[in-house]
This record gives sequence, structure tokens and C-alpha cells, in this order.
Amino acid sequence: MSATIPLEYTENLVKMITEDAPAVHLYQSVKDRALISLCGDFLPDKPMSSLDELRDTDIIDPASYPVFDVFCSSIESRTFEESPENHLYTELSMRITKDAPYTMCSVYALFLRNSKGRVTDIHYRICKFSEKEHFNRSVLNMFSSDKNPKFFSQRCKNVIDNNPNSEIAFIQFDIERFKMINEIYGVQTGDEILAFFNDSLALICSENQPFCRLTADVFMIVTPFKERSELIDFVHKIESMLCGFKGIEYRLVFGICVVADRTAHTRRHGDCASIARQSIKGNALNNIAFFESDMKTTIKKTKEIEDDMQNALVSGEFIMYLQPKHSISTGKIIGAEALARWVHPTKGIISPADFIPVFEKNGFVLKLDLFMWEQACRKLRSWIDCGITPVPISVNISREYVHTFDVVGAFTRLVEKYNIPISLLELEITETTDSIGVEKIVKELKNAGFTMLMDDFGSGYSSLNMLKTTPFDVLKIDKSFLGEFMESGRGRKIIEHTISMSRDIGLGIIAEGVETREQAEFLSRCGCDSAQGFFFSKPITEEEFDKRLLEINK
Ligand code: C2E
Ligand code: CA
Ligand code: CA
Repeated sequence: MSATIPLEYTENLVKMITEDAPAVHLYQSVKDRALISLCGDFLPDKPMSSLDELRDTDIIDPASYPVFDVFCSSIESRTFEESPENHLYTELSMRITKDAPYTMCSVYALFLRNSKGRVTDIHYRICKFSEKEHFNRSVLNMFSSDKNPKFFSQRCKNVIDNNPNSEIAFIQFDIERFKMINEIYGVQTGDEILAFFNDSLALICSENQPFCRLTADVFMIVTPFKERSELIDFVHKIESMLCGFKGIEYRLVFGICVVADRTAHTRRHGDCASIARQSIKGNALNNIAFFESDMKTTIKKTKEIEDDMQNALVSGEFIMYLQPKHSISTGKIIGAEALARWVHPTKGIISPADFIPVFEKNGFVLKLDLFMWEQACRKLRSWIDCGITPVPISVNISREYVHTFDVVGAFTRLVEKYNIPISLLELEITETTDSIGVEKIVKELKNAGFTMLMDDFGSGYSSLNMLKTTPFDVLKIDKSFLGEFMESGRGRKIIEHTISMSRDIGLGIIAEGVETREQAEFLSRCGCDSAQGFFFSKPITEEEFDKRLLEINK
């Protein structure tokens, strides 16, 4: 028997269960809450234990102890699917023996395999009723008995009191952009994921690690621990067991509060974990944050922004600034990017870096963007009316609403309302790894005649790979790309090749964040003639922009 198991072999296991075997036995150790063995009539009737039998087949990694509950039934029907991950799953509808308390059920089993193809763990879920009944039940479960937040709070307190020699962590996590999963895959799938989480946590967590669903997609676990590394391992385990349900891609974001004051109310620790979790929302590089006291200031700032935003829009505190885009070779202004500024009556000018992320989280960004798009169109109209040769203005589209809002309709109506050539309005959107939806919208906007810019290229959010599938017109090299890569010869080579590659595939290119003459000259030598950045100009008011435009482009 070979040491590593090829994919087909694991598939065989599943097929044996799903096609040949009239019954499945699932054994779960109630004490360890771990899967011990999986077997069925497909295994020869030997005196060996089923677990040994499985180990013997070399399908299961002997180092790990995959699990199952004692469970026998005959199979009614089955589905078998392979997910793109290192996972397999199968659903079986089963008719249970007469004496069983229920008649129908389905088993959902997820086989986790290591890089060598061996099964290291198996998650399973048994739905004892119809799917719908099952979900109603699980929702009920989540809000009753010990999973109820009130009881939960008491259980957390017990963990703190019963483990005086351990540290205690409150771990809170949720799914990033869960709203989007509901929108893309449907609420039913969203519910399925939550039910899967609930069931998986029941397997992962011991008696000493109470967990609870707090609201929507927010879960909390309390655990004692000795070393930070042990805690991080636990979080990674949760992450790996909960991610990739039915091949759907999502990311979990964790906030952790290590209890400092054991006498404080458990709610306080929960709040701190929540603050930590929210501090890294939207952060592409990090999905685990520990609570630190200065995070409270950030939360306070966010609250202030949210208190003031509605009124600010109505009373005209948001202003469109324009940052010129230049041709490096001629020095002329070839376009502008519209950037929002908030002129606050008491706080002065607030930077979009402070308010855009807040607006993206609470949805207000759409209102601001609609306002900015309209401002840009108004500006273009006024140039035409005043006899000034217009340059294209680009506006930003946030990814937050592209799934739910008719972006194409909005832009088409604006262009008609202001009667401006469509070529004068350019659209910037950041491409990210969760590109579902963005690709579609970019195609539609492009078909409608708009020029599409891929914003922030090289910032860690976007990749060359996405250029293959999404038909952008122009690639906008991010300032960090330029800053970081200019430093070394190797980095400069990467920029050089990115530029020549994009030209090869017929993409336009512009660099942003150009701060020095050296950078501008380097870009120009590489064949990128368009640039935007402080070396040419900061974002400026409309009036200032008009002055420069008339002066430079005369
Ligand atoms: P962005 O779209 O990447 O905009 C470019 C940002 O780089 C601007 O920051 C600009 O002021 C800054 N910048 C320009 N040249 C340089 C330079 O040479 N060096 C450096 N270090 N920075 C430079 P700003 O205006 O603070 O905007 C920050 C981000 O906020 C924007 O990044 C964009 O993502 C977002 N944003 C701004 N206005 C809007 C808006 O109306 N709607 C939406 N959805 N997002 C906006
Ligand atoms: Ca932009
Ligand atoms: Ca940008």
C-alpha cells in the first residue's frame, strides 16, 4: 500500500459508500467529540475494529483520528460532488430502521485531505428531517438552550472561574461580506453555511470551550489557553474547518480579547473582541486581530463619522477635488480623478482614507458616489458650456454595491442627463480576489461605452490573473507598487515588465502616486507616459484645476 493516497482512491472510498454500500456506519466519540471511524458494509466482516480496518487501507492518516457517530441506515438516494478544494463531500438520503426516532435523514460529509491526499479529518452533518425542517430546527437551536447569549454569558463566566491557572480568550468571528454571499448564492445557502458553522463548532469545541451565535453571522467562542501559539493554532483550526463550504469562497475575520480583568462583566470582553474584529475588516493581509486599548479611539471616531454623515451630504460638506493626470512627455494635463473631500464645520478637512472605509462598511458610500459621479458630470458639462477643451474625469466605483445596485443604469442616465460624450467619463474600480460580480459589471459598463480603469494595481488586491478575465481598458499602477519596487533593481524590472506586458495585451497604463522626477523619468523610459501624483499636483479644488488647465493646456 503506498504511503500517500491518490485522489482517485479517496474518491473510491466515497463511491464505495455512496454507490455500493447499502449502509453507512458513522462512529463519533462522544467524549472527545472527534470522528473515530467511518465504515460501512463495504468493509469485509473481520474481527478488526473498523478504525483499524480503515487505517489498514491507508486512506486515513494514522496520525490523525478521523471521527463518526454510531449510525446505521440504508441508503435511499445519494449525490456525490467534488469541491475544488482538497475536499470531497457527499450527501446521502437514508431511511433509518423502523425503531429510529425519525425516518429520513441526509448525511453531509466533508473529507479534508492533506497535501499528500490523505484524509486527515472528516466533517459531517446529519440532517434528520427535511432540509427545511432541519434549518428551522438549527435556527431554533442557536437561540435556545445553552446557545442562547444569556446562558452563554453564564457559561463564559464559569470558564473564567473554573480555570484560574489558564489565560482566557474571547474569540469572535464572522464571515467577511456575508451580505454578499446571501446576495450571490441566496439566503438558503447563507443559512446552510451558518448551520454548518454551528455543527462544526460543536465538533471542534470541548465542554470547556462554550460557543454561541451572537447575531447574523457573528459567532463567539471562549477558551482557556496556556500559550499564545496554542490559541493561534486553535483559531487556525476553526478557520480551516469552517472555510470552503461546498467550494464557496469566503474569509473569516477573527477578533480576540485576552481577558485582563477577570472580574469584569463577560460582555466587556465580548465587546473588546468585537472591536478587534472590526478593526481589521477589509484588511487583505490579516484576518486575526488581538484587542488593544487604542482600538477604542478608532471606534469612537467611526461613531462620530456615522453620526455626522447624513447631515454632511445634505448640507453640502462633501466637495469634489480633482487631481490632474499628466502626460510625462508633454507635461500637459490629460485628465483628472475626482476625489471626495469632507469639509467638516468643526473638524476641518477630513481625508477619504478616514471616512471611505467607514462608508463602505455601512453602505453610505453609494450615496456619496452617486453625488461624486454627478459632480463630475456637472463639471464636464460646465467645461463644454464655457468653451474649455474638456479632459476626461475618472470617478471611483466602490465594490460594495456593484452586486445590488444598477451601476450601469445610473451612469447611462447621468451621461444622458448632462449630455456629455461618454468618452469623457472614466470609471475606476479596484479588482480584488472576490471578483464575482465585478467582472460582470466591468463588462457591462464597457459594453455601454465607458472606459474602465483597474485601480490600485499591485496593491495586493489585484493581480495579473484577473486581467485575463475582466476586460479593463487601463491599468492604474498603485502608489505602493511604485514606492516599494523603485528601490531595487529587481523591483524596477517588475515595473518595467508590467508596463510592457500591459502594452502587449493592448491595455492602457497610468501610474499613480508619482512623487519624484526620478519616478516620472523612469516610468517614461519604460513606456508609461501617463501619471498622477504629488510630483505634478495634489488633488485640488475645481477652481484651481480650471486655472491650471487653462494655463498648461493653452
Ligand atoms: P485612490 O482612488 O487610489 O486615490 C488616489 C489617492 O492617492 C488619493 O487619496 C490621492 O490624494 C492620493 N495620492 C495622489 N497622488 C499621490 C502621491 O503622489 N503620493 C501619495 N502618497 N498619495 C497620492 P485620497 O484622496 O485620500 O483618497 C483615498 C482613497 O479614498 C482613494 O484612493 C479612493 O479609494 C477613496 N476615495 C476617494 N474619493 C472617493 C469617492 O468619491 N468614492 C469612492 N468610492 N472612493 C473614494
Ligand atoms: Ca481611484
Ligand atoms: Ca488608486
